Amino acid sequence: MSTDCCIIGGGIIGLSIARELAGRGRRVTVISRDRRRSTASWAASGIFPPAPDPAAAADEPNAALTALSDRLHWEWSRQLAAETGIDNGLVRCGGIYLARPGLPLAALQADLQAWRLRAAAAEWLDGPAVAEAEPALAAAVAAGRVAGGMLLPDEARIRPSRHLAALERSCRIRGVEIREATAVEGVDVAGDAVRGVRLATPRGAEVIWPGYTVLAAGAWSGGLAEQFGLSLDTRPIRGQIALLRFPRQWLGRVVNRGLDYLVPREDGLVLVGSTLEEAGFDATTTPAAIEGLLGMAADLLGDLTAAEVEETWAGLRPGSPDGLPTLGPVPGMRNAFVATGHYRSGIHQSTGTAQVLADLIEGREPSLPLAAFAVGREFASGGQR
Ligand SMILES: Cc1cc2nc3c(=O)[nH]c(=O)nc-3n(C[C@H](O)[C@H](O)[C@H](O)COP(=O)(O)OP(=O)(O)OC[C@H]3O[C@@H](n4cnc5c(N)ncnc54)[C@H](O)[C@@H]3O)c2cc1C
Repeated sequence: MSTDCCIIGGGIIGLSIARELAGRGRRVTVISRDRRRSTASWAASGIFPPAPDPAAAADEPNAALTALSDRLHWEWSRQLAAETGIDNGLVRCGGIYLARPGLPLAALQADLQAWRLRAAAAEWLDGPAVAEAEPALAAAVAAGRVAGGMLLPDEARIRPSRHLAALERSCRIRGVEIREATAVEGVDVAGDAVRGVRLATPRGAEVIWPGYTVLAAGAWSGGLAEQFGLSLDTRPIRGQIALLRFPRQWLGRVVNRGLDYLVPREDGLVLVGSTLEEAGFDATTTPAAIEGLLGMAADLLGDLTAAEVEETWAGLRPGSPDGLPTLGPVPGMRNAFVATGHYRSGIHQSTGTAQVLADLIEGREPSLPLAAFAVGREFASGGQR
């Protein structure tokens, strides 16, 4: 079987690229090994911090990718709802940032200035103003556990599992073939090109011969990269989540404290996240981490006796040594590309990633400079996150 473009990986990055390419008239096949919850895209929380103004982000490649992606997300969400009937839940709910224990409010005030420099709306809230803005935090304010915070009114949230479902349906409507339960086992390289992609399918081994191949296998990309003669230092960073159900709608905004957060969902659900752990490819939850998350939630929301733990899960983020995604052509090859390593921002950055990758494949100049994301770049020392 021949296909124009083969995307390795059926997560948000792979499906977004597939949708974009199919929208430009390409024949696309997505190879998707599984949809387990361990994939980052299913597990994600779906927080979109405010996008910087594109002009203010011009000198920061990662911020520029986020700015482009953020703008596209609002367009894509409208298109996806019209094409598929699925509402991905993207909403500008606002986010409150609280000082973390041991970190004085002054540090948060410095963050506020940094947001303003990026032309994002940001307001300072003293303790009573935090309680007024988000009554669910009133008990923590009264008990002295929250002294103030920063409000970013443009923070948004999305439902990653719904967005995945919408992307998948849109891809199928656009003629993308999604090969489920199928793993790429290897690629055959001859000279400067990938000639064949070797698959393990439910019916046995198979080879396809795509015109272009994109490696977008999230945390698993590093292992496959060797097949392209590449050393790609993506590694899994586990994140655990607990989903709490309260008897009533409890939170309006995303609440962030350091790397911890609470994300409101409809029907009284609050998602509590998340850990950052190096645990290899082990995507199980651990009692200690879930207890830690619940302790954090109790610290901010007060007594949790009215809440039920609806579900817990863990997913593997694709981490990279310098914290930036890797996007671009495989050096020395004319038909192989990489799109991975989005770490904590892959849902947010997926639309811009899709656009620039499709531009590269079509030989067009992408709208962003991509040197900072180059495949095979030297990683700055000490850049580990
Ligand atoms: C707990 C948690 C919270 C997060 N919160 C946010 C957030 O709030 N905002 C945000 O923007 N981002 C967030 N992220 C990050 C985001 O989820 C990731 O950056 C993004 O989902 C990466 O997408 P991906 O498609 O590269 O990887 P994945 O979603 O992991 O997909 C990889 C795909 O490749 C497939 N695959 C692997 N090996 C093979 C093979 N050999 N053959 C075929 N297919 C293969 C897998 O089956 C999978 O389908 C979070 C992540 C986690 C874990």
